[in-house]
Amino acid sequence: MTTRNEQLFESAKKHIPGGVNSPVRAFGSVGGTPCFFTKGEGAYVWDADGKKYIDYVGSWGPLILGHAHPKVIDAVIDTAKNGMSFGAPTEAEVTIADVLCEMLPSLEQVRLVSSGTEATMSAIRLARGFTGRDKLIKFEGCYHGHADSLLVKAGSGLLTFGNPSSAGVPAAVAADTIVLPYNDVAALEALFAEQGSEIAAIIVEPIAGNMNMVQPSAQFVAAMRNLTMQHGAVLIYDEVMTGFRVGLQCTQGLHGVTPDLTCLGKVVGGGMPLAAFGGRADIMGYLAPLGPVYQAGTLSGNPVAVAAGLATLAEIRQDGFFAKLSAQTAKLVAGLNELGKDHGLCAQSVGGMFGVYFAEVVPTSFADVMASDRTRFNAFFHAMLDQGIYLAPSAFEAGFVSAAHSDADIDATLAAAKIALSRC
Ligand SMILES: *Cc1c(COP(=O)(O)O)cnc(C)c1O
Repeated sequence: MTTRNEQLFESAKKHIPGGVNSPVRAFGSVGGTPCFFTKGEGAYVWDADGKKYIDYVGSWGPLILGHAHPKVIDAVIDTAKNGMSFGAPTEAEVTIADVLCEMLPSLEQVRLVSSGTEATMSAIRLARGFTGRDKLIKFEGCYHGHADSLLVKAGSGLLTFGNPSSAGVPAAVAADTIVLPYNDVAALEALFAEQGSEIAAIIVEPIAGNMNMVQPSAQFVAAMRNLTMQHGAVLIYDEVMTGFRVGLQCTQGLHGVTPDLTCLGKVVGGGMPLAAFGGRADIMGYLAPLGPVYQAGTLSGNPVAVAAGLATLAEIRQDGFFAKLSAQTAKLVAGLNELGKDHGLCAQSVGGMFGVYFAEVVPTSFADVMASDRTRFNAFFHAMLDQGIYLAPSAFEAGFVSAAHSDADIDATLAAAKIALSRC
């Protein structure tokens, strides 16, 4: 018998390429039929067949308060009643810019955009305009949205000049992107020694969350800051995922680093299309209309999206919010490590973000992540899904706990994991 999810997926494929509007949603790497969701509330989502799940995806990170948080929903509805968009300045944009600069000391100025992709793309253009240089360093396994110059992965070897990893990206564009291994200080030093005067910027996920979850070493973090400073390059922290997810001052607060530019998204919009980039005022001053670097958007700073963002930020700034979220996430991870120790599974978390790996030790590089057991992950994923636990449908994505996940939800998840591990 076909389920409603299966029927919808079949229908979707008629007029939507692959049936989805973003590739990972198609369940391509885990197999099976994607869930079409009809409703979310707190820690739960319901699919088109009426099945309820405890959700650890949270729309890929934004929903730190859980689904349909009443204060966020009210802010959206109240704001929408006064009009959806003006394409002109509004007071709420001023407020959120003030709030972001107050929360994150590295931000002197900030500009709003509508997606993480726009934030990183614009930050890179700005870094190139500011430095007058073209070359960009990114790291293997880091995802920074789908702008052309960022769709480049590493080949083999210590230092690889970019080859596009997507069709349709001109080789000339990719050629200015240099890909280095994450956490490899020697490779970074060697590159700067050779080409330091040509490097416009480093862009990095300061805790990587798009190759499952990989944390940087203290030496790597320090090397990125010191080398960019010495060579006049711009250090761009892509905190689209980690921003207000790992802590109130994002990764930069945890690591004590002041990047030159920061990209934000996901949590900052509370589930609406809102993202931002900002940082040093002397660099931000290169943006139009003040300076020569063009950047714009019809819906940038959209009032309804800003309202959702402000309501979300107000909640996470409440006393004890992150301590509680971090403890709840750590509880899940401790339980998984306990269950997993005889099954070749391990896990880690920072703030409300976690990684689960079918590996003996927590990975510290893209190569480590690639060496983890993907076949077992896929079996685990489906065994969890069957039991009503919705994990990211890929071994290469981080997971998220929200403030709505209760002790009972964590306990139920661990009980399901115990059964799932016995099956895979
Ligand atoms: C999600 C993400 C992006 C892209 O954001 P979109 O809103 O999907 O365009 C960029 N960088 C990082 C680190 C991300 O996690």
